[in-house]
Amino acid sequence: MNKLYLVIPCYNEEEVLSETAKRLKAKMNALIAAERISPASRIVFVDDGSQDGTWTMIEKLHASDPLFAGIHLARNRGHQNALLAGLMQVKEHADAVISLDADLQDDIDAIDEFVARHDEGFDIVYGVRRVREKDSRFKRTTAQSFYKLMRLMGAELVYNHADYRLMSRRALDGLAEFGETNLFLRGIVPLIGYPSTAVEYERNERFAGESKYPLRKMLSFALEGITSFSIKPIRMITTLGFLIFAVSLVMLGYFLSVHFAGRTVPGWTTIAISVWAIGGLQLLGIGVIGEYIGKTYLETKARPKFIVERMIGVSDHREFSRE
Ligand code: UDP
Ligand code: MG
Repeated sequence: MNKLYLVIPCYNEEEVLSETAKRLKAKMNALIAAERISPASRIVFVDDGSQDGTWTMIEKLHASDPLFAGIHLARNRGHQNALLAGLMQVKEHADAVISLDADLQDDIDAIDEFVARHDEGFDIVYGVRRVREKDSRFKRTTAQSFYKLMRLMGAELVYNHADYRLMSRRALDGLAEFGETNLFLRGIVPLIGYPSTAVEYERNERFAGESKYPLRKMLSFALEGITSFSIKPIRMITTLGFLIFAVSLVMLGYFLSVHFAGRTVPGWTTIAISVWAIGGLQLLGIGVIGEYIGKTYLETKARPKFIVERMIGVSDHREFSRE
């Protein structure tokens, strides 16, 4: 029987944590009772440097039941880093790991199917959202354009898949090989290449509390995704540069012929527009290049992606009896 670990990043989630813990515990107990997963399976909460009582609650949960374990990050590093911290810490203890959000937006009944697919031999099982009607129109359109843009940029994203997925230990070892600092999990996981499949599920509304992903974080996440993934924006600017150069050559011929025909015109508008257009393009180009230079700079520093402050119950392999 497989040891299944659930990894749940939590940032200021005290409002949802006890309910989440209750429901996940019931789910795990049912799977253990049905002998589909080992009694040494765990639910691991990763506290992403919360300012509220999240960590205290995790400690209490662990004290109440060894099924619960916790990882405490020294400070807030964002969802992706918290998730990665969890995955990397548990990977040597688990046969399979499922990552999910703390707010119960991901339908936990899909876990049964994740496990079934893993038993069939799939290393990676993607949770794919069936409908998005529960999201606000704004979130829906922005998310949709994000997937489109990422595809355009050459990343193999699984459509409507967020970070609800199962990964085998082998797949996690593969993930660990990616040494980049700006890690964009959704883009990297398909690159691992082991057998994968998808499971559809409904996404619910946040159980309680507010989204920890305000527009600001969403934008930086999207920008992060694009620039840490491809150098296509640079290529596009280069192509545009060539095109404009070609056009200006044709224009030059035209201007000269007009000039020698003696039909010189004031031409102020043309010049003004050209200056502005080219000025704008140059700025854009510099911006894009700057973005990548910034990335190179950050990557060369090779900072750690997270620092684990404390861990409870993660490496405890005892098979506690579940009633
Ligand atoms: N989260 C985190 N660190 C952060 C922001 C969010 O660990 O800096 C966690 C959060 O606790 C939740 C998950 O990431 O478990 C997804 O966040 P949220 O539900 O707020 O995002 P949304 O569903 O609105 O996109
Ligand atoms: Mg959420």
